[in-house]
Amino acid sequence: MNGLTKCFVTRSPEETVKLGEKIGSLLSGGEIIAYKGDLGGGKTTFTRGLAIGMGLPDQVSSPTFAIVNEYRREGRFSLFHFDMYRINGSEALESTGFFDYISDNAVIAAEWSENIAEDIAALERSGTDVITIEFENLGGDERRITTRGGGEKFADAWD
Ligand code: ADP
Ligand code: MG
Repeated sequence: MNGLTKCFVTRSPEETVKLGEKIGSLLSGGEIIAYKGDLGGGKTTFTRGLAIGMGLPDQVSSPTFAIVNEYRREGRFSLFHFDMYRINGSEALESTGFFDYISDNAVIAAEWSENIAEDIAALERSGTDVITIEFENLGGDERRITTRGGGEKFADAWD
């Protein structure tokens, strides 16, 4: 685990999209992005930016009902956007196909990763690149977004 932590405050949804875009442009495939934080924190908004930064269309919607929304594009790595709100336990997680989606050709972004914390920790221990991003609502349009992990490739870009 790389302990590098970075903290941002955004003041509009657009700023959160921009931050997602920057981070998305630095991904190389194989990463799991584990989102934490309450409803309305900006996780889905941030994921729209992530998609743009990865060169995918920006038509990102909440995966709440589908559990997973797939954004695939030939010749590039894909984005699989999960919502773990209703997922409880490894068996439920396995039934979503989560483990089959993990590959070097994909980025996984998971909302409510709190619900799969043990599985995420196990993946991290076995070498998967896990980036944790926490969203806190500071009131009004202010959101504190704290990222952990991602390795040295993020160190300069996020200063
Ligand atoms: P989550 O997926 O964490 O539940 P969403 O991205 O779906 O959150 O919703 C965030 C809501 O908060 C949206 O209605 C968005 O317009 C609003 N919002 C206000 N300020 C911000 C901000 N700085 N960043 C992200 N969203 C914001
Ligand atoms: Mg959401």
